[in-house]
Amino acid sequence: MKNLLHIVIILILTVLTQIGGLVYLIALLLIKKSVNQRRLKGICVFVFLYLLVTFLIVPFVAPIFGRERIKETEFVQAHSFFFKLANRNYVKSELNNAIEEIAKGFEKQNAGIKIVYLDANFPFIDQFPLLPHLSHNDGKKIDISLIYENPNGKLTNKKPSTSGYGVYEDPKPSEYDQVSVCQSKGNWQYDFPKYLTFGRINKDIKFSERGTRNLINLIVKQPEIGKLFIEPHLKTRLNLTNNKIRFHGCRAVRHDDHIHLQLK
Ligand SMILES: [Zn+2]
Repeated sequence: MKNLLHIVIILILTVLTQIGGLVYLIALLLIKKSVNQRRLKGICVFVFLYLLVTFLIVPFVAPIFGRERIKETEFVQAHSFFFKLANRNYVKSELNNAIEEIAKGFEKQNAGIKIVYLDANFPFIDQFPLLPHLSHNDGKKIDISLIYENPNGKLTNKKPSTSGYGVYEDPKPSEYDQVSVCQSKGNWQYDFPKYLTFGRINKDIKFSERGTRNLINLIVKQPEIGKLFIEPHLKTRLNLTNNKIRFHGCRAVRHDDHIHLQLK
């Protein structure tokens, strides 16, 4: 029974953080069976090792295998500490450079407004998926937040979802409704991230057409970027025509809460 619990914990940590399951296993092996307060000491050893590996070892080892930690600058930041704590912030260096260039260009045109990133890739192993995104498995993919504005129309760095996902900019009644089309084909997962918001925040802000269009146009101008996914009704509403902007298909999830971009 106890072993089963350990296996479940290892699986969950591996799915969430890639290296967490292995670190947990090492912590288990390090703590002697006979020691007093084994569970408490085990948790302390795990937390210590996990933080050590995540922040001081992996960032230096991952580049050997072709991925690097997203370079955070004043204008490139994670939506929350979770993405960094869970090793979900690794990309190939070409993507890292492209993000930096896009952020510089965007900030030049919109003082103080940042690129806020969500899930990217894990540090190691091609084909190892970063769930729930099946395709984020090669260092070439990253999700970033849409741009929002305050009630006075000024762009803001605030976002409406605690997790970064699941607060949608729905199709208007007159717009093409890809969401209903996919759901009617039986793709129940298309709308699923609405359960993953962990709460709606900053309820006063609204989607910025101007800011998001500006950002997307800078992204598709980058020669390294091969594709960008956004929901079809937003593509139309924002008047986006670049042929790098594609529909991701009904087997993915909806993309009117974030933008997905990837290298060629
Ligand atoms: Zn994505």
